[in-house]
Amino acid sequence: MKRYTREDIIRMVREDDVEFIRMQFTDIFGQLKNVAITASQIEKAVNNEIMIDGSSIEGFVRIHESDQYLRPDVDTFAILPWRPQHGRVARLICDVHNPDGTPFAGDPRGVLKRVLKKAADMGYSFNVGPEMEFFLFQTDEAGRPTTLTGDEAGYFDLGPLDHGESTRREICMSLEQMGFEIEASHHEVAAGQHEIDFKYADALTSADHIMTFKLAVKTLAQKNGLHATFMPKPVFGINGSGMHTNMSLFRDGKNAFADPADSRGLSHEAYCFIAGILAHVRGMAAITNPLVNSYKRLVPGYEAPCYLAWSAGNRSAMIRIPAARGMATRVELRCPDPSCNPYLTMAVCLAAGLDGIERDMTPPAEITGNIFAMDSADREARGILSMPGTLKEAIDCLKKDEVICDCLGEHVLHQYVEGKEKEWDAYRTHVSAWETDRYLVMY
Ligand code: GLU
Ligand code: MG
Repeated sequence: MKRYTREDIIRMVREDDVEFIRMQFTDIFGQLKNVAITASQIEKAVNNEIMIDGSSIEGFVRIHESDQYLRPDVDTFAILPWRPQHGRVARLICDVHNPDGTPFAGDPRGVLKRVLKKAADMGYSFNVGPEMEFFLFQTDEAGRPTTLTGDEAGYFDLGPLDHGESTRREICMSLEQMGFEIEASHHEVAAGQHEIDFKYADALTSADHIMTFKLAVKTLAQKNGLHATFMPKPVFGINGSGMHTNMSLFRDGKNAFADPADSRGLSHEAYCFIAGILAHVRGMAAITNPLVNSYKRLVPGYEAPCYLAWSAGNRSAMIRIPAARGMATRVELRCPDPSCNPYLTMAVCLAAGLDGIERDMTPPAEITGNIFAMDSADREARGILSMPGTLKEAIDCLKKDEVICDCLGEHVLHQYVEGKEKEWDAYRTHVSAWETDRYLVMY
């Protein structure tokens, strides 16, 4: 649904005392980028005439082909509530295009749009509702982040145990001012860990929301003297942070995953979608769980999934079907973590699910027992595979998965794999404190 025209944007900038407009986009590794323009440039901006030099952006382009144009999506216009309210700051989320007007192949938002178009051609729209978890840590005298929380609260606890409560409240209020519908916010299991859930939306809006969410959380934490992190496993021995991703396909305004005639209330398409995700989830892992550190979260014992299974109830399975049915029928994928690029994550999830539908795949049997309580022989007997154990294994799985490679396209795939292989190599050759603690005296 269209909210604004170009003329609306020009008018709002004038009437709402907007002084700066941040033209935002995301690089392939999920970092938000922006170029700020002044209000005098707004007509140029809505006419797609703002140029950037893509050569200095990770994974974008080489120096000799560096000019790119930003095409703002006018429906994303929003005022940043945490900036001064006189001479205000607004933002527009942009698509990146080549000088000849074609979409730039390295723009993650463009990758998602491509898969959404494929879904639309098959008659589907794709809705996503993420559950964002993060930590709020204290900073030291120099303002540097620590991993101390000063917080002994646990799941669903409330103040005064929960020191992050007022920060969380400010985050929710700011996001509401930006048009978010916040459904729930609570303290998570670990000390200093929080979760805020916002209402599901079409995948593109949802991915834009995730980028806005991360910026808001980091900015407002900093204003409160705290450091917010979406690092998947910041502290050994306690829960990490996930980005459980709730997904559904709609057709003709109805939820295509719902079928009241089925014993679980799920449609044939829902089963195929689940099967497609399970068939590709190892190939998707380098995108959904992109850091060396992501694989330290995907270990048994901390409510994060490590085994490839689905279940209608069981939280130990990687795919869970939450109890709600009818319009709210959905598939919850529990492996993604909030350090991922949300555009690429939604693109690969959709591509995998659609592959399941196109090939009419059947999922393996539902696992109702606690998978964490099974030993490896039990799991092997039931054919339950594991997620990749390291970023290296995930990169190798990605390279072998044609559907996921196709979905990303050659440009993103190449740049992404190259960047992640470098990251792995830097980690692999680094001598860590764990090693010196363990070996220095013993050998
Ligand atoms: N923090 C857990 C994870 O890493 C999830 C906890 C929950 O079920 O919300 O995925
Ligand atoms: Mg949670």
